[in-house]
Amino acid sequence: MRFLARTFGEAIAAFGPKIELGAPAELARGGSCSHARRRSVKRPIYLDHQATTPVDPRVLEAMLPYFTEHFGNAASKAHAFGWAAEGAVAEARERIARAIGAEEPSEIIFTSGATESNNLALRGAALAYARNGGGSRGHLIVTAIEHRAVLDPCAALEREGFEVSYVPVPKNGVLEPAQIEEAFRDNTLLVSVMAANNEIGTLQPIAETAALCRARNVLFHTDAAQALGQLPLAVHRDDIDLASLSAHKFYGPKGVGALYVRRVSRQVRLVPQLLGGGHELGLRSGTLNVPGIVGMGVAAELAVRELEAVNAQQLRLRELLWQRLVATIPAISLNGDSERRLSGNLNLLIPGVRADKLMLALPLLALASGSACSSLTGVPSHVLRALGLGEEAAACSIRIGMGRNTTEEEVLLSADRLEAAVARLRGRAQTP
Ligand code: PLP
Repeated sequence: MRFLARTFGEAIAAFGPKIELGAPAELARGGSCSHARRRSVKRPIYLDHQATTPVDPRVLEAMLPYFTEHFGNAASKAHAFGWAAEGAVAEARERIARAIGAEEPSEIIFTSGATESNNLALRGAALAYARNGGGSRGHLIVTAIEHRAVLDPCAALEREGFEVSYVPVPKNGVLEPAQIEEAFRDNTLLVSVMAANNEIGTLQPIAETAALCRARNVLFHTDAAQALGQLPLAVHRDDIDLASLSAHKFYGPKGVGALYVRRVSRQVRLVPQLLGGGHELGLRSGTLNVPGIVGMGVAAELAVRELEAVNAQQLRLRELLWQRLVATIPAISLNGDSERRLSGNLNLLIPGVRADKLMLALPLLALASGSACSSLTGVPSHVLRALGLGEEAAACSIRIGMGRNTTEEEVLLSADRLEAAVARLRGRAQTP
């Protein structure tokens, strides 16, 4: 682990941009030798779009005035600075409501990201609908391949007297709604199924699952962090009660997200998890991140407008990469469903080649093993394990996430680099 950290530290030093505030004149003119060296190093190819995406320049442009000129607090009701900020937030709320098919902008609650939205949805709903008195406080159903930002709040709820069923998925990673049906109990409060998996990219049958929940009067939440801009969302039409979003997954800024909370056709109740000034209809206190929210609104609109073209492009590049890799890397296979998955996602099992070693051998390719969060802990991916992969197979799996700006040239170069690195590592493994 220490070796990894040192190596990544060196990689960051080599490739990472440096923010220099008030740099001396010779540095500002580019006279430093470390700057010159950094410029001559080839930049890595970014193939980790499920971890995060770059901010779209159009999004950045919309945000900039809200850092400086229109810096008001959206909660300041008594002057023009506050009104400008409030107006911008209202517009962003409308854009996001439209992008996901909500009935009203007031159904969008701004948060710091999908982690917070998931916590608010799960804990907020569980506590609002809890049964008090002896025995279980209520039952929740989630799939075994949810993000940690769903699984960890569930574990906390279990410690607080709730019951949680973790429904398995078949080997292709696509939930069978019948499994949810079987897990229902008399005291089930809420079901949570992610729209798209962040590791294996599988798209889940959320509309079918939501319909089962509606028939039983059970709340349905979806973690849609990976879905906006990748597949059409229609929360009202599809009977979704709660949906978590995160701007940085669709070319918006980091640290801003939203929770869709159905309130027009059915009033979903939540117990707020952050207490304070009563912002966001009392559901999420805290001064709003106005530039981030403006960026999220524009990013959501662009994501929906460009969805079809982006998907067609990503699909073409994914096919190209997959065909190249299958032709050049013996025994490579795909984790998760080959059709029902995010258009830019490949999760590859390369037997005999551990992902951490492969990534170290490829400093000019930005890939991932598991999710960005599980690569922090070094624990084998719970998603791959839930598909039935052993520890070794999970450790030999990598995730590739193409994005809106990925080019054919990058894909071909990545295929060559992967092939060469795998051959080298496998060759080394065979030499005594
Ligand atoms: N849920 C899913 C499916 C994700 O992919 C992520 C991000 O990795 C999250 C939740 C957490 O989102 P955020 O980074 O906005 O907290």
